[in-house]
Amino acid sequence: MKQIDIFGNEIDVNDIGPQQLEKQGGRITLRSYFRNCYGFKDSYYCKNCRYFKKTMRNKKDYFKCLKMGTGRTAATDIRKNDIACNLYEQKRS
Ligand code: SF4
Repeated sequence: MKQIDIFGNEIDVNDIGPQQLEKQGGRITLRSYFRNCYGFKDSYYCKNCRYFKKTMRNKKDYFKCLKMGTGRTAATDIRKNDIACNLYEQKRS
């Protein structure tokens, strides 16, 4: 069975797992909501995904996901070695 998520994408209901929602300053982060929708794809890492993006601000690297959003807020920060989600697509070389 499929379901439309808050981002307008179709996902399999079986891929939605009960995840712990990550909080930041008492609030649930966008990243946590995103992960709750798309789950995890074991053995794959965000750094190898085509939607992974590295940006630099004030001489510091930040990592974002183009699917999740690239706002300046820390709520959309991801890490290179985060386990990939089910939207993972191999980066083209
Ligand atoms: S694996 Fe998922 S969360 Fe990670 S960069 Fe790709 S689309 Fe974003």
